[in-house]
Amino acid sequence: MKKIAVLGSTGSIGTQTLEIVRTNGDIEVEALAAGNNIDLLERQIREFRPKLAAVWKEERAAELKNRLRDTDVRIVSGMDGLLEVAAVPESEILVTAIVGMIGILPTIEAIKAGKDIALANKETLVTAGHIIMPLAEKYGVSILPVDSEHSAIFQSLQGGQRSALHKILLTASGGPFRGRKREELEHIRVEDALKHPNWEMGRKITIDSSTMVNKGLEVIEAKWLFGVSVDQIQVVVQPQSIIHSMVEYEDGAVIAQLGTPDMKLPIQYALYYPERRYLPGDRLDFAELTQITFEKPDMETFYGLKLAFDAGRKGGSLPTVLNAANERAVAMFLDRKIKYLQIPEIIQACMENHKNIADPTVEEILKTEQETYEFIKNRW
Ligand code: NDP
Repeated sequence: MKKIAVLGSTGSIGTQTLEIVRTNGDIEVEALAAGNNIDLLERQIREFRPKLAAVWKEERAAELKNRLRDTDVRIVSGMDGLLEVAAVPESEILVTAIVGMIGILPTIEAIKAGKDIALANKETLVTAGHIIMPLAEKYGVSILPVDSEHSAIFQSLQGGQRSALHKILLTASGGPFRGRKREELEHIRVEDALKHPNWEMGRKITIDSSTMVNKGLEVIEAKWLFGVSVDQIQVVVQPQSIIHSMVEYEDGAVIAQLGTPDMKLPIQYALYYPERRYLPGDRLDFAELTQITFEKPDMETFYGLKLAFDAGRKGGSLPTVLNAANERAVAMFLDRKIKYLQIPEIIQACMENHKNIADPTVEEILKTEQETYEFIKNRW
């Protein structure tokens, strides 16, 4: 029996991870962690019987503990709780399906405890990739990508020589506003931005897909995961989301991974790697599929993507500023406090205001995050 722990079990990736556990029936869930949704977490605990579960706030943890008096699960809370879940002794893989930079410390804890990481929480690599990747190497653990594009790259690299990798072709759907110009985005409402054409995801990442900042975060994530420079990564818009990404080798051969848009495939691949298993669901029908089209990304309209390329190239603490500014701006947009076009404006202002720190420590990363939030609070 494979043994796992899941951070963010109540979210979009977390629930799909548990769906895979349910369908396969040969994975044991050792620990779960969630933020606020104790109703769902309670149901998950009753179904999967982990030994340990974490809830962010102490009062919510106490309430859950009370509800679960008839079981022997141990309930913990706060950052200490997340760290305990990350390093729970019996588990072999930690699925990081939590949202935000809060994932950094638990990921480090899990690596130090020798766990492989099935990584969905891209913010951890975007902001601390220079710490995470060498640490994983030092402790001999694997970082298995869950993000569909990175899983596609990882799958395309199987059997190929890593040293012969020339370029990564990171595909993007272009989001719901593909083809529009900046002036046409002036009055975008929350409801419009939450409608992704192909993928069903959490709210924050859905907004990020519409601004293409998500693709920018993925560029930085790919840089760390595959040890390439940002200039070896090309974003290709492929609106049907059929090609999940590609790699080009030195000899010009391009290898791609294709499939219907379903996050369960990359999640299952990460959990069972290198084994491939049956996965129920739709299959590509090439007789029905009349075309797969390609476009260049419009980095003038969606200049959040350009900002991310800049941050990825310069490195240091700048990707943290990009990520924190975006996180806060998206939250403000979702609360209807700012307009849609202010999201990249805020990111740009924060990046311009920041004095870059080369090779930041975790403390410096977290401090930069707070300073970025503070800057936004004082200005908007
Ligand atoms: P969701 O918003 O759906 O879920 C986030 C999860 O994190 C929830 O379980 C939430 O708990 C939990 N959480 C939030 N804050 C805390 C906290 N302080 N302590 C403990 N748990 C917390 O996000 P997604 O599943 O969409 O995304 C998760 C990560 O995966 C992100 O980094 C995203 O970029 C990445 N990703 C997502 C994809 C997708 O298809 N959704 C695709 C590729 C990557 P609760 O709900 O109980 O508050």
